[in-house]
Amino acid sequence: MSTKISTMSEQSEGPSGFIELDGQMFVVDYGKICAADGAVVGFLFEDGYLKGNFGPVTEKNGLVAIDDIEGCIFRGIDSSGMELDLPGVRVGPDGTLKYNGVVLTVINGRLATQNHRLVGEFDDEGEVYVRDRELKEPRRKLDETTQLNLYFEGNKSDGSAFTHEFGRPLYRKNLTYSDNEIIRYFDDFDKLNTPQKQYVMESMRLWASCGLLQIVRKSEGVAQFGNVRHGAAGVTGVRHGNVTLDKEEFEKEIMLYKRFGPLAVIAIRLQPYVEVRVNLVVSHEFGHQLEFVLSQATQTLITELYEKHKAKSARHYPLPNGYEGYAEVLTPQQVHQRVFISGYARTSMHEYWAECVAAFSVRDSRKMLKELDPAAYAILREVVTNPAKMIRPVFREQIMDLQTSLRIGGEYTEELLAE
Ligand SMILES: [Zn+2]
Repeated sequence: MSTKISTMSEQSEGPSGFIELDGQMFVVDYGKICAADGAVVGFLFEDGYLKGNFGPVTEKNGLVAIDDIEGCIFRGIDSSGMELDLPGVRVGPDGTLKYNGVVLTVINGRLATQNHRLVGEFDDEGEVYVRDRELKEPRRKLDETTQLNLYFEGNKSDGSAFTHEFGRPLYRKNLTYSDNEIIRYFDDFDKLNTPQKQYVMESMRLWASCGLLQIVRKSEGVAQFGNVRHGAAGVTGVRHGNVTLDKEEFEKEIMLYKRFGPLAVIAIRLQPYVEVRVNLVVSHEFGHQLEFVLSQATQTLITELYEKHKAKSARHYPLPNGYEGYAEVLTPQQVHQRVFISGYARTSMHEYWAECVAAFSVRDSRKMLKELDPAAYAILREVVTNPAKMIRPVFREQIMDLQTSLRIGGEYTEELLAE
């Protein structure tokens, strides 16, 4: 496993409030500790580490934990406005905690990044609580489904040596969360050759890292090879929700992906027409599964968008005489002003959504989707960054905790949707 940096790695701005020390009061303003005359005498980080030269603290000591300064307490808020008391009423372990490979510090039970950002709590029983800045809840307990692999080494609050390990069920210890999720999702993963594995990893990384793959996998099912009705690359069961992929078509997709990238312009039999193709069968089928976990309101939004597009496509690119399919077919000159991201997306609302999901999965086609179909791009972006608003209510609590957990574990990062 490569060393990962937590996405919460930017140095914390520091809390605001008051420090009380031996009857003296200091104002803390975004971390800056100010004496009565206004002079800045130190800095307090939100994880409880401070530095400065006031009272018993001197610069030469470097960082000192507030817990180690007799009679020193802080009361106030963190930079996001959430209430923060340091050292607080609870006691807990000290040590180092690896979370999905990300190195975190535990100071008296407070869980923090290397840059002193307070991300949660870890107690003497080995339970993890996250600090949810979205919900403004300081202490949400993680469970088996939302907690990532962790290893702690240090001491309990009573000073005794303490090591603790948590491994997610059926997870491979040496791999990250997203690697594990993709392997669990793609049933025959171990039988794939290296380029095939890369293809699956690349096209599913976003969905794994943002937590939606886990929600979908548990609610709908996995993907596997099997018999697919002739001519289709994959099919998603309506009743069981599993994805079945055709082995030969899968190989063809990878060949096209390697040659042309995620989008290819293919000549159809009827000259001079072409059809744009998204070469991402795995994330396409995943898109069908994802549709099942969307809220009714989101599904309606997509249906309306599809109907609008279909009418526009009919106006601009009516199906040519002699063409018997349902795809949007174009002359080569029309490709750049097409209505649908791919020809196949015109077929139905379901295929439209699946093709948009597929295109959104990797950077090049995501960029194209943003240009061609900004409304679909906006919905997908919202599904990834604000899923609680977009998916069925039954999954909301879980996805919120999972995404908070994945942020701490360096999986759910800004770079995921970078252009
Ligand atoms: Zn489909």
